[in-house]
Amino acid sequence: MTDPFVKCRLPQEIEALAEPGLYPFYLPVEERPGGGEAVVEGRRVLMAGSNDYLALSDDPRLKEAGTAALCRLGSGNSGSRALNGTLALHQRLERELAEFLGRPAAMVVSTGYQANLALSALFGPRDVLLADRHAHASLLDAARLGQARLRRFRHNDMAQLGALLEEAGPEEGVFVLTEGMFSVGGDLCDLPGIAKLAARHGARVVLDSAHDAGLLGAGGRGAAEHYGLGAAVDVQTVTFSKCFGTLGGAVAGPRHVIDYLRHTARAALFSASLPPSCTAAALAALDIIRTEPQRRRAALSAAERLRSGLVAMGFAIPPGGTPTVSLRVGDALAACRFWAGLLAEGVLANVMLPPGVPEGSALIRLSVTAAHTSTQVDRMLEAVATVTRRLGVGGGVGGGSAP
Ligand code: PMP
Repeated sequence: MTDPFVKCRLPQEIEALAEPGLYPFYLPVEERPGGGEAVVEGRRVLMAGSNDYLALSDDPRLKEAGTAALCRLGSGNSGSRALNGTLALHQRLERELAEFLGRPAAMVVSTGYQANLALSALFGPRDVLLADRHAHASLLDAARLGQARLRRFRHNDMAQLGALLEEAGPEEGVFVLTEGMFSVGGDLCDLPGIAKLAARHGARVVLDSAHDAGLLGAGGRGAAEHYGLGAAVDVQTVTFSKCFGTLGGAVAGPRHVIDYLRHTARAALFSASLPPSCTAAALAALDIIRTEPQRRRAALSAAERLRSGLVAMGFAIPPGGTPTVSLRVGDALAACRFWAGLLAEGVLANVMLPPGVPEGSALIRLSVTAAHTSTQVDRMLEAVATVTRRLGVGGGVGGGSAP
């Protein structure tokens, strides 16, 4: 026998970060003063590493709704939705969310990760899953947990997706899995291409709208609405941890599919339900998303400023106009040096290393929110320019699957 713990060594690229100040993960935020800022290491910095795109996580209305629910219903439900953890508040959120997304039904779960994992119950032994290479880890984990065969197509490559669809046998059910707005690259999926191919072959489309629900489309319903293709999507998953400013997730789709998931999705059946405070905060966020389109506009205009500034610096940024962009600045060590440089300049960004991005790649991810003013975005750009100059790195973009 060998000790099963012998495998517990840090990945090489993490071990290489022993130099003080270069380790970019698990950095504790000490205070969240709002206004697009955070306090880390006793210092106020610009928060360019959050997906709180509409800046709702410190909105007083979410705090009030969450606090009131906490006081009335308690700090947790101590049970799964199926047995003893369903609140009338969950059911209200499901009704309102389904109506908002234009879907017959929705099931609320405790995280966006679980919303995607729940899909594994749909993936039977005679099904094939065709997933975009940049699809989120949670979709891939659902594929692993399910019984279907998984095949990947190159990012947004419709020719390859078409070829894989051609290969599916007449007895096989096919799902296409993709993200609306990709979590790392910030680009959009080619939903028009996918919709056409899926309709031609009778495949079902699963869209992870974690980053785009609340942000894109005239009504904030996400990438499907942005493209005017809501009906081409069969199942949509969302998270409440980004635009909704709290925690939780949901799967939305045809009623019989959602009812089936309620009774078969182990990620929901065997885990405690979303606490009252988060459920009430998500409802408050939904109300704001429906009634305050100016928040989306503010986030997208900060995004435009960030993107055009980076392009002017020579970074190759794909079109998409979303608030998240990733920069290729070299290998893992170079990316961590870049991250540390930005932090020294007062900007907190993200470093993306495998498994969040493909093996061998490393990225710096920057995100802006509705709270960032033009002056703050310009400060982020100045920091990027300073660090780029100091470290002598060039432009580039990348993609992958965010943690
Ligand atoms: N899907 C995507 C595309 C994501 O980026 C994330 C979060 N990083 C999730 C799902 C999981 O959401 P949550 O954080 O609510 O678990």
